[in-house]
Amino acid sequence: MFGASAEVGDHFWTKSRKGSRNRPIPPNVVAMTSGPGNAERLRAVGLRVTQPRVAVMDAVRANPHADTETIAGAVRAGLPTVSRQTIYDVLDALSRVGLLRRIQPAGHLVRYESRTGDNHHHIICRTCGLIADADCAVGEAPCLTASHDHGFELDEAEVIFWGTCPECAASTKTRSPL
Ligand SMILES: [Zn+2]
Ligand SMILES: [Zn+2]
Ligand SMILES: [Zn+2]
Repeated sequence: MFGASAEVGDHFWTKSRKGSRNRPIPPNVVAMTSGPGNAERLRAVGLRVTQPRVAVMDAVRANPHADTETIAGAVRAGLPTVSRQTIYDVLDALSRVGLLRRIQPAGHLVRYESRTGDNHHHIICRTCGLIADADCAVGEAPCLTASHDHGFELDEAEVIFWGTCPECAASTKTRSPL
């Protein structure tokens, strides 16, 4: 009977909570070798600077809007000893503290990006799944105001522009001479 509220909770958090909150992350403290400001950003939110965290931040920055598998592959290319589960946990932890933004467009896998806090939106190709950023025309989050908030404390309004990317549009044209 609480289907609606369960859905809201699931959408934002349930998947990222899967018992991962207290799983220890290998305490490999790393020198600041990579990524501009990773260590400072981690410390600023009260997280210890660990090799997996820094590597995940680098991988997400290098692969904007990548899915979990892509990020895990990029991290493990440099740190083969880090388990997938650790990478998933780091992605969850960094998203929770706002160092990463987690998006999950309908019908797509969860994606992560390092561009956070600016309330930008996404333009997604229905054909190939390409995701592009679009600055918010209004700026503040949320940019949509609910006509009736039903007592919820609203903190986000999701705007996704769906369409066809230039490449897919071009190949559709050449494929169908009609
Ligand atoms: Zn496309
Ligand atoms: Zn984005
Ligand atoms: Zn907007």
